[in-house]
Amino acid sequence: MCDDWRDRFAETPDVLKSARLQQTIVQVLDVEIGGDEFVTMAGPCSVETESQLLATADHVRRAGARVLRGGAFKPRSSPYAFQGLGLEGLKLLARARKESGLAIVTEVMSEGDVPLVAEYADILQIGSRSMENYSLLEAAAHSGRPVLLKRGMVATIADLLRSAQCILDYGNPQVILCERGIRTFETAMRNTFDATAIVLLKQVSHLPVIADPSHAAGHRDLVPSLARIAVAAGADGLLVEVHPHPDKAWSDGEQSLDFAGFDSMMADLDPYLALRGMTQREQAQPWRETVGSCSMEAAG
Ligand code: PEP
Ligand code: MN
Repeated sequence: MCDDWRDRFAETPDVLKSARLQQTIVQVLDVEIGGDEFVTMAGPCSVETESQLLATADHVRRAGARVLRGGAFKPRSSPYAFQGLGLEGLKLLARARKESGLAIVTEVMSEGDVPLVAEYADILQIGSRSMENYSLLEAAAHSGRPVLLKRGMVATIADLLRSAQCILDYGNPQVILCERGIRTFETAMRNTFDATAIVLLKQVSHLPVIADPSHAAGHRDLVPSLARIAVAAGADGLLVEVHPHPDKAWSDGEQSLDFAGFDSMMADLDPYLALRGMTQREQAQPWRETVGSCSMEAAG
């Protein structure tokens, strides 16, 4: 990394690459994020029903996803929109982990919910709207779970790194950065996908960087192209919304891929990953019995 960048991000020294640390690998169950494998996290925006979640988990696993996403606590723009199933959603996620073997990432919105969410989830997602909620960052850091930190929709790269630095300062080095689109003057898309952020973050930081093309685009037809751009930009993985019937989804249906769309996105990534010498999946492997090794008492 050149000195210009080191000076620019001098406030957040611990997230920057150093002679000692070039790349952090976040280990979750049998998945390594930031290593040689490209890791796709996929699933519905919100956990809705048992059949919706289990069918999605089964499908995305077969297509090569390694982590199941799904919101049980939902930050919504309208107070009247579906707010998530809460504890019932967490229990469904634990059930899906047990049946699919996939690790679980789910959002935690408040400091008080951290112990509960950490009991069920393998990775705690800090949403865009919460990126600068420092008491939440502290609680999430202390949970001991890896933290997937989404870039705030109006946050600069320095702001994102500052929040990551806080989590490290609180003693948790397992942080995954996520570019999910930012607000600009452009309104055709939900957000503007900042591919440069991925390039720069990979250059300056040792933390794994993933991309969320779903919230960046807001339209499902753009998602596969943004996913390819993320691979070309050097991302370590993706966070993608997938739903069995996107048109009936309780949240974010317009940006969710259906199963066929997910399959085709995954297949189309392969040549791009091959250019980076990366693979995406241990395809068609029956999942390994790793659940018990990772203190998943809450499963079931
Ligand atoms: C989500 O992942 O469903 C979500 C709400 O994301 P963001 O915080 O990026 O808006
Ligand atoms: Mn969503």
